[in-house]
Amino acid sequence: MTNPRKILEVDGRMIGGGQFALIAGPCTVESREQTLDIAETVAAGGATMLRGGAYKPRTSPYSFQGLGREGLAILAEAKALTGLPIVTELIDVRDADEVVEVADVIQIGARNMQNYPLLTEAGRSGRTVLLKRGLAASLQELLMAAEYVLKEGNEDVILCERGIRTHETAYRFTLDLLAVPALKEMTDLPVVVDPSHAPGRRDWVEPMSLAAAAAGADGIIVEVHNDPENAVCDGPQALRSEAFASYAERLRSIAEIAGDGSLEPVAVPAAVI
Ligand code: PEP
Ligand code: MN
Repeated sequence: MTNPRKILEVDGRMIGGGQFALIAGPCTVESREQTLDIAETVAAGGATMLRGGAYKPRTSPYSFQGLGREGLAILAEAKALTGLPIVTELIDVRDADEVVEVADVIQIGARNMQNYPLLTEAGRSGRTVLLKRGLAASLQELLMAAEYVLKEGNEDVILCERGIRTHETAYRFTLDLLAVPALKEMTDLPVVVDPSHAPGRRDWVEPMSLAAAAAGADGIIVEVHNDPENAVCDGPQALRSEAFASYAERLRSIAEIAGDGSLEPVAVPAAVI
């Protein structure tokens, strides 16, 4: 039986059970001007929350690691300006107090999905947690990671499919959209999709977003930039600011058609080859 859907409230914005969340913003906070400009654009275009990393988990230790506390202060200013709740990543338990002060939603990144002390800390934070699927994690492992947050008494967890490693090398990751209906059958938690990191290029972000909405996702977390050619991080996959409003409109029209994707379940044979 399909689970009755859980609806979470994040500072007045609802997600789950047919309430579609559009979380948008830069990969990382680069400067005050960049972040405030993008925040205003996505707010005007219908985003319901602002994303942006102040602490970045980078593959290379020599890449930009984020502005840290300075970035958090800029996010706080962006919230004051637009009213959008803030989604930002926590990568280290030692930064928890500072991040919790600014974050309405704590993002746990794919590389930290099984960082159990970090999950426990997020569980104790009192903030909603957006948990991204690990690069090679099964859905069962994702759900077990979510349990680390839930067991601390924090029931506000959003699951996020962002692409997994497969044999395919034509794009960065394989976006597993079947995770959406499958997770919705396995849990009542909201399920969102990150259509940015799997393609790694902007022209494939909208089709994957629309497909995710059609699959019944409860929301999208997407990267947007006002100057992607000069972005410090993930520029090639960032939607252009000027394209955001029309993208959001098309996305909403698909989300409305798809509803919350709670379909009548069918009897599945025990072994499907
Ligand atoms: C991000 O959201 O910018 C990010 C680093 O995501 P992921 O953890 O999915 O790679
Ligand atoms: Mn990114």
